[in-house]
Amino acid sequence: MDTSSVQYILRPKDIKKAASLFELSEEEIAKFNSLKLLNTQYIRLCLMRADYERLTNGLHYLEKSDTRYRYPEVMKAIAKEYGTNAKAVSRAIHEGDNAMYFCQKCGCRIKKEQYIRGGGLCSNCLADLIDL
Ligand SMILES: [Zn+2]
Repeated sequence: MDTSSVQYILRPKDIKKAASLFELSEEEIAKFNSLKLLNTQYIRLCLMRADYERLTNGLHYLEKSDTRYRYPEVMKAIAKEYGTNAKAVSRAIHEGDNAMYFCQKCGCRIKKEQYIRGGGLCSNCLADLIDL
């Protein structure tokens, strides 16, 4: 899989989910998506949370009877779906929006310390500013 484009573009599946989550039409999101106007990293975080909610509410119910999957499997499934690791999924789910910082130039997600240190830029964009 070409991960360089995955970072900036939502898959048709993601667009469908995002449309229902944000109550927008799929056409609108698809258009913005093709123009690369979306913060796909942020959208993916929202989708991960929505998937987690949906799946764990199901678990609540399932726990009363027989269940084949639990919390660790849900985290793994979401991580696989979005091409990340379970730790990142856990972070996405448990951190509030307030804890999210994005590079002002490329839009990638960065840590608060990096945001402050780089004046709103990620390490990559900061490196672009160095004259050689
Ligand atoms: Zn950047």
